[in-house]
Amino acid sequence: MTFDRRIYNFAAGPATLPEEVLQQAADEMLNWQGLGTSVMEISHRSKEFMAVYEEVLQDLRTLMNIPDTYEILLLQGGGIGQNAAIPMNLMSLGKNGPKADFIVTGVWSEKSFKEAEKYGIAHLAASSAAEKFNTVPARATWQLSDDAAYVHYCANETIGGVEFPDVPDISDTILVADISSNILSKEMDVTKCGVWFGGAQKNIGPSGVTIVIVRRDLMGHSMKITPSIWDWAKESANQSMFNTPPTFSIYMAGLGFKWLLRQGGVKAIEKRNQAKADLLYSFLDESSLYENRVAKEYRSRMNVTFFLQDENLNAEFLTQSNAAGLAALRGHKAAGGMRASIYNAMPLEGVQALVEFMRDFERRA
Ligand SMILES: *Cc1c(COP(=O)(O)O)cnc(C)c1O
Repeated sequence: MTFDRRIYNFAAGPATLPEEVLQQAADEMLNWQGLGTSVMEISHRSKEFMAVYEEVLQDLRTLMNIPDTYEILLLQGGGIGQNAAIPMNLMSLGKNGPKADFIVTGVWSEKSFKEAEKYGIAHLAASSAAEKFNTVPARATWQLSDDAAYVHYCANETIGGVEFPDVPDISDTILVADISSNILSKEMDVTKCGVWFGGAQKNIGPSGVTIVIVRRDLMGHSMKITPSIWDWAKESANQSMFNTPPTFSIYMAGLGFKWLLRQGGVKAIEKRNQAKADLLYSFLDESSLYENRVAKEYRSRMNVTFFLQDENLNAEFLTQSNAAGLAALRGHKAAGGMRASIYNAMPLEGVQALVEFMRDFERRA
């Protein structure tokens, strides 16, 4: 299948980017800012790149309303890298030795939980595994420890399509939030968590850069074994340039932030995201061919999972949707079925086109 136009791409990550962002990158690819070179060919320590870098941090601070008491680190290794880095940086704050609590609501929080076991006691405080990860365990059932350094949760489970509507209330313990797939999709009160983290490739730009937003007093408690490139205090002291940063990904993230600011920021995009998700879920709920299995109050606004009642139609559904320029709807292999990822850069028109196709497919099925 080849196209002479841009398609609607529902991939979960790396994911679709705003056309304006791609166009600007293309326009200035060969000669950036009149330097006669591209941005990816200059020193990360040059004054030109440092200006980009500072603006990226400032724009993110503005977009998320990040107070000065929090540091923004731009690292590598992805959310998966942070699954190791977080315990190494924080777990030793446990009252009786390295320990952390985990709320497991899907594949991603389960991965974080498993990785943390290498560094101390990872305590499973709550899990929705018995409900096939189609919900979030009721807060009253969480068995939080009184000696854990922090509580880890995944704000949006990208594979199952389960999202926390709000930051959970856990009183005094430090909360750590994996926001890989819903960063900048809605307003979040940064002060409610000690650490927020996620890669750029879902809701910001291309892969390669990992954003870690950490309360300053939580830096400097790392275990001895912590690799320097993942030691938050060391990275902070080196402006996240302890090693050569992914300069092109940082520049692209910066174009993404400018685009989001032009859209009216997070508040404005949140409204659009809500409208897109409402359109798709209300169609799924009316349909007799498709169904979403997630408990209503925890349905993700970013990753909409659905199943065809007759699974024999899956292959045909994917072939025909691809041909219609609606790409990457196959669900993750751990979940099966279908998934439409509708991040910030997916326009309402893309979701409308998807619903139209699905309605038509149902009619013909
Ligand atoms: C994609 C994803 C990750 C992993 O990100 P990498 O950049 O591949 O390390 C972690 N958590 C969530 C919720 C994700 O969606």
